Amino acid sequence: MYRAIFLDRDGVLIHNRSDYIRTWDNVKIYPFTFKSISALKKFHYKIIVLTNQSAIGRGLVDTGTIDEINQKLKDRIEANGGRIDGIYLCPHTPQDHCDCRKPKPGLVYQAQKDFNIDLENSWLVGDAYSDLQTGVNSGIKNLILLQTGRGIKQWKKYQKELDSINFHYIKNLWEAITVIDNSFQ
Ligand SMILES: [Mg+2]
Ligand SMILES: [Zn+2]
Repeated sequence: MYRAIFLDRDGVLIHNRSDYIRTWDNVKIYPFTFKSISALKKFHYKIIVLTNQSAIGRGLVDTGTIDEINQKLKDRIEANGGRIDGIYLCPHTPQDHCDCRKPKPGLVYQAQKDFNIDLENSWLVGDAYSDLQTGVNSGIKNLILLQTGRGIKQWKKYQKELDSINFHYIKNLWEAITVIDNSFQ
């Protein structure tokens, strides 16, 4: 079995956009993303991106365009010393009541099946309460909420709910490397 590091995309690897990322021009990669992903490689975990892309379900952008954006992001990360093993997306809107939109565990389970993942000892990194819930709902024990993207607002908004979850609350993806590294001590 493999352990994995599950990463949200928007607000973790690239800047969030309230009106959705619809073109490659909308993509603004954080300055620490490349060095963070190349540092993550050393842990020998599968590196998997999980992303809700309801802009598809809302008819704002087609799946092909989102796939192209994700492929280009993956290529850029790999050209800069990183590696992404898989990108899983939910194209649905909340009204679709699908099984894959985070905080549902569907995307995690798809990846688990594809890569034979030991969820309990995996990590999940996101900028939203719903990301952490995805971890809880799928049995991932190591959770990180970042202050990038929607992180700070989410942390304030969901204080009460977050009280019952064990997680690390840290500045950005680069700091996550230290947290994961320390877990081996
Ligand atoms: Mg996000
Ligand atoms: Zn879905």
